[in-house]
Amino acid sequence: MKRSILCLLGTFLSMLVHGQEISDQVFITKILDANTERFSKAAREIWENPELGFLEYTSSKILVDELTTSGFDVETDIAGMPTAFVATYSTGEGPVIGFLAEYDALPGMSQDAVPYRSVIVEGGSGHGCGHNLFGTAVVASGTALKEWIDANNIKATIKIFGTPAEESGGGKVYMARDGIFNGVDAVINWHPSDRNAANAASCNAVIGGRFKFHGETAHAAASPQRGRSALDAVEAMNMMVNMMREHVDQESRIHYIISSGGLAPNVVPDYAEVQYMIRHPDIVELKDMWERIGKAAEGAAMGTGTRVDIELASGLYGLLPNETLAKVMHKNLSLLGGVEYDEEEMEFGREIQKTYNSKNIPPLESAKKVQPYQLTFFPASTDVGDVSYVVPTVGLGTATWVPGTAAHTWQAVAADGMSIGFKGMMLAAKTMALTGKELILNPLLIKEATNEFKERLGDLKYEALVGDKKVPLDYNVKN
Ligand SMILES: [Zn+2]
Ligand SMILES: [Zn+2]
Repeated sequence: MKRSILCLLGTFLSMLVHGQEISDQVFITKILDANTERFSKAAREIWENPELGFLEYTSSKILVDELTTSGFDVETDIAGMPTAFVATYSTGEGPVIGFLAEYDALPGMSQDAVPYRSVIVEGGSGHGCGHNLFGTAVVASGTALKEWIDANNIKATIKIFGTPAEESGGGKVYMARDGIFNGVDAVINWHPSDRNAANAASCNAVIGGRFKFHGETAHAAASPQRGRSALDAVEAMNMMVNMMREHVDQESRIHYIISSGGLAPNVVPDYAEVQYMIRHPDIVELKDMWERIGKAAEGAAMGTGTRVDIELASGLYGLLPNETLAKVMHKNLSLLGGVEYDEEEMEFGREIQKTYNSKNIPPLESAKKVQPYQLTFFPASTDVGDVSYVVPTVGLGTATWVPGTAAHTWQAVAADGMSIGFKGMMLAAKTMALTGKELILNPLLIKEATNEFKERLGDLKYEALVGDKKVPLDYNVKN
């Protein structure tokens, strides 16, 4: 008898909890549905004003204004970056949930929101990575979460981090180095994609830098013995590094360009420069490779009678996955489903798909689906990596691009400026807000995520790869 009463009570309580869960979900999605036009407009405005890394004055202001209107306290000029910001909404004690916003564009990617190649500004920038949607979805998500906190008298803090120059400069690195994410329990972010997926993802860490060789000029025919060729040094260095490829871990990636190789063949070049980027999933292995490449540069200088200056330009950690958080994100994404096209969007999609040069094109209908959960690895890199090494971090991708579209293409820019992009953006906003809500309501989840984070980190202590380097604010300023 007692047992059946307890059992009934249990069922009743779980119905109550489940019922509350559904009503929280409905509350949050309704707010976002009601604000679709407002945030689509903001995303379009950023898309119409594409700005390169550290120069995102208009874009960051659009987001800061939205956050201020929504009741957040906003601080700008963070970690030495005028276009970075931290927006906070706090009701006192409780979990601190962080969100990452990106809003920088790419050079040479100008394109109209039409399904054929149409440049708006010759040589102009464009949102080929969808960061106009990235930043706006995060702001929308934070706004909905704040409304929900207010309506339910919940104790929590939401922090929206405006992070400049993801594509060039890595703003998050300097924010992580300066402790801007200290005190945050979990960080949520997303990225535009051609599919909907919330995976526990890891990726390559990367170091990039310039090797500047200095020699002596001379007439290349009349007095070659007087010359010491800086270009010879670059070539000697590259040869040694290319031989090194056989003796590094096979997961390594080594890329270089000769950014300066002399001015005329009849003048022995007194200056030559080679830029390297190297990648590896393991930070220790990567640092070791960088040291060996440095030795090759010194050896090349010694052998050619030149001198080398090594300048570290950037360094990003890989992503530290967090399965605890990723599973919560995946559950919420699955609950919401994918992106539905109307007839006009289907037509846009069909036209875009005709322009691909690949045979392996997923059907347009795949935008409606949510990909199965998995642990994934991608060989590129992101400055979210550094954040993931200081706070448990989770991300997702939604179908803001027509299925089959790759990042950094005109097809991506086109979708980022119209309704297909905005639909994917709102799906991301909803998924992130529901995930944030769940973390706020369930401190055990945060505890579990923190334990996983510590376990994965092991003995590794985060130290920014860029050391005490100043923020390269002039990265995209043409002299
Ligand atoms: Zn990108
Ligand atoms: Zn991106």
